[in-house]
Amino acid sequence: MLIKKIRVRHANRSIWGHLAEREKTLPLVTPLDIYTDFKETRGSWFWDSGMAVIQIETDDGLIGTGWCEDGCEAVSPIVENHLSRLLIGQDPLDIESLWDRLFRATLPYGRKGAVLQVISAIDIALWDLKGIALGKPVYELLGGPFSESVPVYASALHPVGHDKVQDEARAYVAEGYRSMKMRFPYGPGDGEKGMEENEAHIANAREAVGPDIDLMADAYMGWDLEYAVKMCGRLEPYGLAWVEEPLIPDDLDGYASLRKETSIPISGGEHEYTQYGFRDIINKGAMDIIQPDLRRCGGFTEGQRIAALAAEGGVTLIPHAYGITHLHFALANSNIPMIEYFPMPCWDSLPDAEIEPIFHGEPQPGNGKVVVEPRPGLGVEVNEKIFS
Ligand SMILES: [Mg+2]
Repeated sequence: MLIKKIRVRHANRSIWGHLAEREKTLPLVTPLDIYTDFKETRGSWFWDSGMAVIQIETDDGLIGTGWCEDGCEAVSPIVENHLSRLLIGQDPLDIESLWDRLFRATLPYGRKGAVLQVISAIDIALWDLKGIALGKPVYELLGGPFSESVPVYASALHPVGHDKVQDEARAYVAEGYRSMKMRFPYGPGDGEKGMEENEAHIANAREAVGPDIDLMADAYMGWDLEYAVKMCGRLEPYGLAWVEEPLIPDDLDGYASLRKETSIPISGGEHEYTQYGFRDIINKGAMDIIQPDLRRCGGFTEGQRIAALAAEGGVTLIPHAYGITHLHFALANSNIPMIEYFPMPCWDSLPDAEIEPIFHGEPQPGNGKVVVEPRPGLGVEVNEKIFS
């Protein structure tokens, strides 16, 4: 079996689903908050929603499908002008060797960012293809399943007003979630008043759900070390399960310093790439919880290496964002206790542009967990309507 053809298609949709579109206007702190002209919304600086779907076809007609985000339409030129010639004619089951060739061939302009997202999508397609060829689910090829279902946490809770936030938090408890993640609205440009509002937002949700639900909160790279130390100090009484991405991804020394100053677990890594990036996080003692995204960090092949590093380094691994990739990843690793899910808040509804699902056959949570049917490969099909 040899790789015959690689097809890249772009869709004007976010692989994060409705959340990405809605988050363009919802209040949350971002790394550009320090610039007043980009302060109000993430949509003021964020790229247009886009994803790429990569299909790898063999000479005997099997097709594996992978995907990654693609807001700038950079995936197609990277594949067509370079990577396809390293793949065409090769055995698609030599996944580790192919991954290594792509990584080495792109070292001069890759290593992180868009190039690793492309390699991730190719790797996901190769694992899907292998599962289809062997008639086994990807989690089984990776040594799973370790459990019958995957717990999920509800990730939303933007600061949209006292009563709405309390209603939303209580709705998630009623739907069966035991953990939920909030968004901080303010950062270093907002002074003492912003700190008060950040604290009030957390206090509000804690009051709504009581002490037995895990609460987390995401700063989306919008703070600096001094602010994060002060803010975490104020948040100590609320029993947070973690504070996420308080600093920019490259400030690992800052992360390590912050961990020494607070008892709140610190998480991050959704914007980190490859085993080398996660090795540095772990070796520096920068985070308690790492949150790789297989559609960024290098697909299943690199994800398994990162999971092994996490196990060896004694850090928890909770992947970033929802998706069938992360369901298979969690089923294949005993040190992934749950994954993220973006529910629709009780006060909001789906925008028209998002009504068509991106995938057919992607399982959805019930009672705070997800069951994955044992279908060959990843077991989903991309909805052709997203390309029109
Ligand atoms: Mg996050």
